[in-house]
Amino acid sequence: MGERIGIMGGTFDPIHIAHLVIAEEARQAYKLDRVIFIPAYIPPHKLDRKITGVYDRVKMTELAIADNPAFSLSLMEIERQGPSYSLLTIKELQREYGHEAEFYFITGSDSINELHTWYHAEELVRACHFIGTTRPDSPLDEAALAERWGELWSRIHLLPIPQLDISSTMLRQRLAKGESVRYFLPFPVAAYIAEMGLYQ
Ligand code: ATP
Ligand code: MG
Repeated sequence: MGERIGIMGGTFDPIHIAHLVIAEEARQAYKLDRVIFIPAYIPPHKLDRKITGVYDRVKMTELAIADNPAFSLSLMEIERQGPSYSLLTIKELQREYGHEAEFYFITGSDSINELHTWYHAEELVRACHFIGTTRPDSPLDEAALAERWGELWSRIHLLPIPQLDISSTMLRQRLAKGESVRYFLPFPVAAYIAEMGLYQ
């Protein structure tokens, strides 16, 4: 049997505990052998805002996942450059791990609600399962989604998790105001942000 691999894609600007919680909850619920964190080079849905440089986002991701042996980091979207389309990432992973490997793309419910707008969305969902973890402020209309996706809806799995009302946007805003972000992100990430003076 092939490996079961979780893919945790994101901008990670900065990475925070909700990213880590959803990855771990998905790993456990879907018996994933590992979860690969893949920071986006250019997130296709965020072309209109300034993103922190890749070096710092990679460094923060590395620090955040260091204590979990099931988590690893891939720089493939950064090395590929250009817009970070998940379909290209899955194809690269299929070449690397072989076609027996099963891929589970881990997301929050906000991503599931807009998944149909992703690059070649249907082909993407055919190529990998999706796990949609519940996120406050992004309720899922399951009936509408099931109708939109048809037979492909069976490849999108909803995973209720303890709700965490945390976003990178909220953390950037707090940091810009000099407010505390303690406990919202792992200590080494907070220390890195402080040392580098990010988000001021
Ligand atoms: P931003 O506010 O900059 O968009 P973010 O917190 O949404 O940042 P992303 O890097 O955009 O973080 O998200 C990566 C993935 O993690 C997405 O699939 C997103 O839905 C998921 N995610 C982020 N925060 C949460 C959360 N609090 N609960 C569930 N899923 C989350
Ligand atoms: Mg987001």
